[in-house]
Parts: sequence; C-alpha cells; structure tokens
Amino acid sequence: MQLDRLKTTAGLDLKGKRVLVRADLNVPTKDGKVTDATRLERVVPGIEDLAERGARIIVISHFGRPKGGPDPQFSLKPVADKLAELLGEPVAFASDCIGEPAAKTVAALKDSEVAVLENLRFHKGEEKNEPEFAGALAKLGDVFVGDAFSTAHRAHASTDAITRLLPSYAGPLLMEEIDALRSVLDNPVRPTVAVIGGAKVSTKIPVLTNLVEKVDKLIIGGGMANTFLLAQGVAIGRSLAEPDFAKTALDIVQAARERNCELVLPADAVVAAKFEAGAASRVYPVAETPADQMILDVGPKAVAHYKQVIAACRTLLWNGPLGAFEIAPFGEGTFALAREAAALTKAGKLTSVAGGGDTVAALNAAGVTDAFSYVSTAGGAFLEWLEGRELPGVAALIRAAR
Ligand code: AMP
Repeated sequence: MQLDRLKTTAGLDLKGKRVLVRADLNVPTKDGKVTDATRLERVVPGIEDLAERGARIIVISHFGRPKGGPDPQFSLKPVADKLAELLGEPVAFASDCIGEPAAKTVAALKDSEVAVLENLRFHKGEEKNEPEFAGALAKLGDVFVGDAFSTAHRAHASTDAITRLLPSYAGPLLMEEIDALRSVLDNPVRPTVAVIGGAKVSTKIPVLTNLVEKVDKLIIGGGMANTFLLAQGVAIGRSLAEPDFAKTALDIVQAARERNCELVLPADAVVAAKFEAGAASRVYPVAETPADQMILDVGPKAVAHYKQVIAACRTLLWNGPLGAFEIAPFGEGTFALAREAAALTKAGKLTSVAGGGDTVAALNAAGVTDAFSYVSTAGGAFLEWLEGRELPGVAALIRAAR
C-alpha cells in the first residue's frame, strides 16, 4: 500500500462545507447507556477541529450487528447523546442515515454544528458495498473523511464505495493508527520484538508468518505456545493445544530460523487441574506438566526471560495475552510483562504498540494502557494489518487521494 499518498483535510477550507465523517461509534452499551466511552473520547478532538474550522459535521457509523433493517436495540441515539455530553455541545440526531430524515437534519445544520445519523447497518446496502446506498449517503456531504480504522478491513459502502463519489480524506484517528503500526512494522528502531499470545495458533498463522519476516525477536505465550511445545515433543498434559497445527508451528519455527528471528517460548508455566478462578496452581518447568493438569499462564522464569528480551529491544508490538488472564491467578504473567513494557516506555527506552480486544482488556486490567506508546482498539483490522494485508478501507482512501 502506498501509505504516503494518504491525504488529510489539513489546510483545506472547510467553512460551511458538509463534512461526512465515517467514525467508529460502536461502543459497548447496557440498558441504553454507554458503558465504555473510550472510542467516543477519541473521536472528540477530530470533531472539535472540524467545528473550529466552521464545517458542518455529519457523523456516520455502524453499531452492533442488526440484520440489515431498523432495530431499536441497535439505535445510535444513546451514543449520540453521550457524544453530545463529551463535546459539551448539542448533537442533532437523524432517525435514518439516508432519505428525508437525514436530509432534513443535515439541511438544518449551521456552521460548526454536529449531527449523528442512525446506524448505517439498518440498510443492507452498507455491508454489501452498494453504490446506490453510497450515493444516498454521498448526497448528504461535500467532503468525506474516513476515520474508522477498525472497520477498514471491510469493503462497505461507508468505507469503500463512498470514496468514489466524494472528495475523500483520511481522518486523524485513522492516520494515528497507521502511523503507530508503521512505526513498529515499516521503519522501526531496532531491535524489534513482537509478543504474540492468545488461545490458538490457528487464528494467528498469517500474523506469525508475517511477523517472523519483520521482527528480530518473537515471544510466544498463551495457549498458542502449547502447540509449539507439543510440536517440539514436550508433553503438556491436558493443556489447550491444536495438534493439527503442530506441523504449522514447526514451519514457523523453521521460517524464524531462516530469517534470524529469535523465537522465544516459555520455559516454565503456571499449571492447574481446573480452569476456574482460585483453582490450586503450581509452577512447573513446561516439560514436567503433570499429565492430568493444564498450563494456564507462563511461569516466573519465562516472565524473567521475556523481560530481558524486551529490555534489549527498542520497539515492541503486542497482541494476545500470555495466559488465561480473565481468571485469577492466571493473569500474572501478562500483567508483569505489561508493567515492564510500560516502565520501559515511560523511561523513553521503548516504543510500545499493542492492540486487539483481549489485549486491551488485559492492559486495562494491569493498569498500564496509558503508559504504552499506542494502544489500538481495532480488533480484526489490527490483526489483518499484522498479517501484512491490504485493508480495503485504507486502499480506497489512497485511491481517492490521487
Ligand atoms: P485470542 O482471542 O486468540 O487473543 O485469545 C485470548 C484468550 O486466550 C483469552 O480469553 C485467554 O483466556 C486465552 N488463553 C490464553 N492463554 C491460555 C491458556 N494457556 N490456556 C487457555 N486459554 C488461554
């Protein structure tokens, strides 16, 4: 992807212009109230900038997974209200993202005012990337800003087709995300290390295959480390593993060797008979895992080794927990390494970029999210980027910038 071609609205005169912003307002809610406003807080500065420049701001987004028709439980209204609270300004709301309700709401906007339109996914045309639906959206704006990196891995009408119909620009959050990813993958300060954990090898094969070509060291933890250990003939008891992917694991080990990428596996583990909170647990060298027990976290020796490895690196990329972190005491390995990465970052010794749903939850639980250089809340799009794939929503903005 020719990322240097991406254009932002910097320097454009937007006074009086209707700016259609594709944001990610897909926040968690309960009983009609937003329970985590992180994503909305991130959207606010970009909207404020457009408002200061006199634009008429129309925010569009999907919300949840309605089945292609209106469904009140997936209405963006409560989210629009929360956004208004964060902005400290009124936010108009249109009960449909196209047609009469949207047109009326947009026509009533004055310079610097903000509107949110109802859930894009109330129309089948959104996920089908239909030009007609994109055309109905495009009528509402003079300029389009793509600012939802987390949906850029999908070619939908609001991420792809619309960029063929309006002058289109990359938004500030999308640029921030791409800059963070480029800083670890494209021209990082070396040595670089990736920490990859999570449940299964099978879901992250393309990630691992791409990363062994890019990073100097690859730390593997979590359930997926079990499959690597199993492939190397280590008996891991009843631990979660994917014997069908043992050969794949060995291929990745081989690829790492050929690329001079140091692959780091855990030497010891926290082991228990039951996968439940407070289960009696003990530390064993991985090869001594009792036959009737399972590995649920990396052990203290592994953590000490991982800490040494990241302390010797200048750039870190992290996806996936090192253990079953949701259940005490099996989060300790993840939390200890996260604290170390945070401390190194604070001391100016490390650039640290992390992402993925579980990873964000684990860093939040460790209380270190703010100390990382960048934490991405994009799940699928973040992983696809780590796989080295072209994201349609980013490709569309590059094409539109020509
Ligand atoms: P992923 O979505 O692939 O990043 O996987 C995250 C999940 O992996 C979390 O829910 C963890 O509880 C789980 N996990 C990590 N390590 C282990 C392990 N050793 N055994 C079982 N589950 C694990």
